[in-house]
Amino acid sequence: MRPEALYPLFVPIGSLPGLGPRLAPLVEKLVGPNIADLLWHLPYALVDRRFMPPVTAAPEGRVATFRVTVDQHQKPESSRRPYRVLCSDDSGFLTLVFFHAKEDWLLKSLPVGEERIISGTVEHFNNAIQITHPDHIVPVDKLAEVMSVEPVYPLTAGVTPKVMVKAVRAAVAKAPDLPEWIDAAYLARQGWQSWRSALGQVHAPESESDLWADGKARQRLAYDELLSNQLALALVRASMKKLAGRVIQGDGHLRRKIIEALPFALTGAQKRSLAEIEADMVEPSRMLRLLQGDVGAGKTVVGLLAMAAAVESGSQAALMAPTEILARQHLATLEKLAKPAGLRLGLLTGRDKGKPRAAILKALAEGEIDILVGTHALFQEDVEYKDLALAVIDEQHRFGVHQRLELASKGRAVDMLVMTATPIPRTLMLTAYGDMDVSRLDEKPPGRTPIDTRVLPLARLDEVVGGVKRAIEGGAKVYWVCPLVEESEKSDLAAAEERHRELADIIGPRVGLVHGRMKGPQKDAVMEAFAGSDLDLLVATTVIEVGVDVPSATVMVIEHAERFGLAQLHQLRGRIGRGSARSTCLLLYGAPLSETGKARLNIMRDTEDGFRIAEEDLKLRGAGELLGTRQSGLPEFKLADLAVHGDLLATARDDARLILETDPDLNGKRGAALRTLLYLFARDAVVSTLRSG
Ligand code: ADP
Ligand code: MG
Repeated sequence: MRPEALYPLFVPIGSLPGLGPRLAPLVEKLVGPNIADLLWHLPYALVDRRFMPPVTAAPEGRVATFRVTVDQHQKPESSRRPYRVLCSDDSGFLTLVFFHAKEDWLLKSLPVGEERIISGTVEHFNNAIQITHPDHIVPVDKLAEVMSVEPVYPLTAGVTPKVMVKAVRAAVAKAPDLPEWIDAAYLARQGWQSWRSALGQVHAPESESDLWADGKARQRLAYDELLSNQLALALVRASMKKLAGRVIQGDGHLRRKIIEALPFALTGAQKRSLAEIEADMVEPSRMLRLLQGDVGAGKTVVGLLAMAAAVESGSQAALMAPTEILARQHLATLEKLAKPAGLRLGLLTGRDKGKPRAAILKALAEGEIDILVGTHALFQEDVEYKDLALAVIDEQHRFGVHQRLELASKGRAVDMLVMTATPIPRTLMLTAYGDMDVSRLDEKPPGRTPIDTRVLPLARLDEVVGGVKRAIEGGAKVYWVCPLVEESEKSDLAAAEERHRELADIIGPRVGLVHGRMKGPQKDAVMEAFAGSDLDLLVATTVIEVGVDVPSATVMVIEHAERFGLAQLHQLRGRIGRGSARSTCLLLYGAPLSETGKARLNIMRDTEDGFRIAEEDLKLRGAGELLGTRQSGLPEFKLADLAVHGDLLATARDDARLILETDPDLNGKRGAALRTLLYLFARDAVVSTLRSG
C-alpha cells in the first residue's frame, strides 16, 4: 500500500489551480497524469527579473523590471494596429505595445496617473524604448513578487509559461517532508539536503549554475531516481533467486559430441563464458546470467552447450527468440550443430495452432522434446514441460525486461541465460539489468574481414544504385534497408514498396521485398529466396526482418542512416561481413546533417567495435536517446542524466546490494523510507514482492 504521505502527489494534475479541463490534458500529455509527474518536470533556463534599471538605461533584448507612471492610452484606429500605453519614469519614456488587446482590461490594469510595476523584454524601436506584451503588470505593492528569478519550463502548444510556472509551484507546495532514505553518512559526505528541500531548489534556480545537472540539489534527486531503479532491479533479482533453484549437472557426454563435431574451435571467450555458465548451473541457487557479445561473436553455440548440459542431467531446455523468423533460424542452426549429439529439437511459435500445436505440446509434456525453440509462445499458460531446467532468451538488440519478469512470475525456478547483442556500456547495462551476472564474449571468432563503411549523401543515390548493380553483376548479394518514416508503418511500407519498384526497374527481377506487414510464411519464402540463389537484392523495412543470417551477403545500403540509433546501425551492419569475402556498407544520409549527426555516422565509419560505438554515442547524445527509440525498453530517467551521473549509478548499485543484505524485506526504519522511495517512483509492483512490513 502506498504510504499516506504520498497521497497528495498521486492525484490527477487537473486538481491543481489554473489547470482546468482545457489545460490539464495538454499538461498531462507533456509530463504525465499525476502531480508527482510535475515534480520531475525540470526548468531548463531562468529569467532574472531582479534587474531594475532606469528606463533609458535598459539594454535592448534584456528582461528588466520597471516602476513607471502611466501617462496616456493610445487606442489605434484600426484593430490591426497595436494599442499603445505610454509610461515614464524620471529618466524618460517607456511604451507598452499590445496586439489584439482588450481595452477594458488595459484601462483597468493600467489606469492613467497611477504607478505600476512592469516587467518584460526590452526593445529599442525607432529611438523609443518599448515592451511588447509585458510578462507582468502589477501594482507597486507587488514589487517583491515580480522581482524574482523565474524558472523556464519546457512547454507544449497551448500552455503558457505562466500556467506552467504556477502549476509546478503548486505541485512543489504539495510535496511533503519525507523520511530520509539515503544513508546518513553518504548524505553528509555529499553535502546534500533533504528531498523536499532539493526539490524546492531545482524549481527555484537562483543562477544558471543551479540549472546544471551537476548541481548538488539536482544530484541528490538524480541519486533518488537511480537508487529506486537499482533497488527495484535488486528486489526483482532477489525474488527470482528466492525460488529455490536446483543442481543441474550433466556428465558432459553430449557437450563433448557437439564440440567435437564443430567445424571450428571455440574461442577463449566462448570457453570462459561456458565455464561461468556451467558453474552457475551446478549451484543449487538459480542462475540469472547475461551473455553479452557483439553481433557475430558466437553466442549461439554457447547457448546450445548450456542447453545440452541441462539435457545431460535429464531435463529440458527452451530457447526464446524475439521474432518468428529468428526462432526458425535458430532452430535450423541448432539442428545442424546438435545432430551429432542426437538432441531432439522442437519449434513452437504463435503460428502453430490446432492439431500441430497440440502434438508439440504433447511431445513436450512427455519429454520427447529436449530443446524447444520458439517465440514468447514458449511460455504461454498452457505450455507444460516435463521438466524444464534452463531457459535461454535471445534478445538480439532488444531488452526484454518485461518478458523476463513475466517468466519469473510464473514461478518456474528455471535457470535463466539472457543473450544480448546490445553493446551497451556498463553504466547503461546496470540500469536495464541491475546487478546481473555477466559473461562477455569480447573476442570475435577468427577469420573475419573488416567491413568497408562509407558515409554518403542521399543526393548520390543514382551513383549508389549504379555501384550496387555492378556489384550484383560481380556476384554480390545486397541488403537495402529503407528508412524509418516517422512512426507510421504505412508510410514505411509505401517508401519501401516504391524503392523496390525503382530498383527492380533498374536492376531486374531478382530484387525482393520483405516488410513487417507480411504474413510469416510469405516472409520466410522471401528470406529463403535471398539466402538461396533466387534473389540478389533484398529491400527490407525494419531492423527485425534483417535479423537473419545470410553469410553470402556482402553489401548493405542503409537509407537515411541518420534516423537510426547507432546501436541499430551496428546491428544491421553486423548482417554482412560474416564470411571471408570483403563487405561494404553504405550509409546514406539526408542533407543537411547536424554536427552531431555527422559525428555519429563518422563513428560508424571508423570502427566496428560495438562497445566503442555505444560509448561514443552515449557521449554525443545522452542515454535517453542511445538506442534510438522507446521500444528499446531501456528505462528512461527523468532526473538522472547518465552522461553526468554515471558515478552515482555505481554507488546506487552498491547501496542497493548492501540494503538487501542487511534488510531484505525493507522492514527497518530506513527500509520503510526506501519503500516510500519506491512508491514515489511508481515501483508499486516491486514492493508487492516484499513480505509485509
Ligand atoms: P551471435 O549470435 O553472437 O551474433 P552466432 O552465434 O550467430 O553469433 O555466430 C556467428 C557465426 O560465427 C556463425 O556462423 C558461427 O557458426 C560462427 N562461429 C561461432 N563461434 C565460432 C568460432 N569459435 N570460430 C569460428 N566461427 C565461429
Ligand atoms: Mg545470434
